[in-house]
Amino acid sequence: MDLDDLYQEIILEHYKQPKNQGVVPQADIEIEGRNPFCGDEIKLTLKIDDGVIKDVKFAGSGCAISQASASLMTEHIKGKKVSEVKELFQEFAHMVRGEEHEHHHIDEMDELSAFHGVSAYPTRVKCAMLAWNAMKEGIERELQKHEK
Ligand code: ZN
Repeated sequence: MDLDDLYQEIILEHYKQPKNQGVVPQADIEIEGRNPFCGDEIKLTLKIDDGVIKDVKFAGSGCAISQASASLMTEHIKGKKVSEVKELFQEFAHMVRGEEHEHHHIDEMDELSAFHGVSAYPTRVKCAMLAWNAMKEGIERELQKHEK
């Protein structure tokens, strides 16, 4: 089995048996994302306490890449600081867009790197980024609220 098969397997596994599916009760952040090009939909709920992602869940429907990406994202951001999550977002975005970037958090062994192959398919980048974009938007909105 080569690396591409392994990556494909990771994506299919998370698509079939997504992690953190559902809705976080009394969430601090609730945000929806849509990718009309593919018909992917996602709803994220997050609980943030003291600058840390205490809980995150997603609900949605769509292609394997969009749903697997959401599942993997929830696993990777749960328990992390908001500042770390922002860095992770940047790295993931660079990776799926195929941009050269120093990766501090995502290495070859990390499941998130399963999405690096998406960069060869520009229409799929939106699928992979859907949950991440929603998460970033939700966090920024929440931070702005507290600045006021
Ligand atoms: Zn899609």
